Amino acid sequence: MQECILYDKKFILSISYSEIEKRVREISKELEMAYQYETPVFVVVLNGAFMFASDLIKNYGFNCEVHFIKYSSYEGIQSTGQVNSVIGLTAEIKGKSIIIIEDIVDTGITIQKIYEDLNKQDPKEIKIASMFFKPKAYRGSIKIDYIGMSIPNDFIVGYGLDYDGLGRNYKDVFKLG
Ligand code: 5GP
Ligand code: MG
Repeated sequence: MQECILYDKKFILSISYSEIEKRVREISKELEMAYQYETPVFVVVLNGAFMFASDLIKNYGFNCEVHFIKYSSYEGIQSTGQVNSVIGLTAEIKGKSIIIIEDIVDTGITIQKIYEDLNKQDPKEIKIASMFFKPKAYRGSIKIDYIGMSIPNDFIVGYGLDYDGLGRNYKDVFKLG
């Protein structure tokens, strides 16, 4: 599929699933190297990261825990700047190694808030894995430890990412065209 239309907007193919898949496998291997001797806790940020998390965790071949959280900030194609916890973490993470799994880090406001909230629960360490990263938009100070792909400041959909609820199901990534 070369393009998709969501509501009033046309999106054109930007990154194919074969590229994504290859990169996700590499990150899973890096995580295996780093965490195979302990039981890491993957904390998946809903909704957008569900597809990345699924591929990443399927390729992770050692013991791990998987939990889900949800924050809200985006409306349409712009961040509101206000980040709220919608579904919190119920698991005990004190003393454990946490890997936050995000779909995309843009300004970094969302990941900063998530990081701070989880850090209050006194984990051993927190690392961040994000499928996509927009270096030119990033205003944060925390390190994004595992980056799938760095991309320009385009608005993208697909591979879990949506435009007002649509487009999450496409395994390729499309940008506003
Ligand atoms: P940040 O707080 O880093 O500015 O934004 C992070 C969140 O905004 C992401 O988790 C994602 O939900 C949303 N977001 C940022 N950039 C994009 C984009 O290009 N496309 C879509 N669909 N969502 C985005
Ligand atoms: Mg997100």
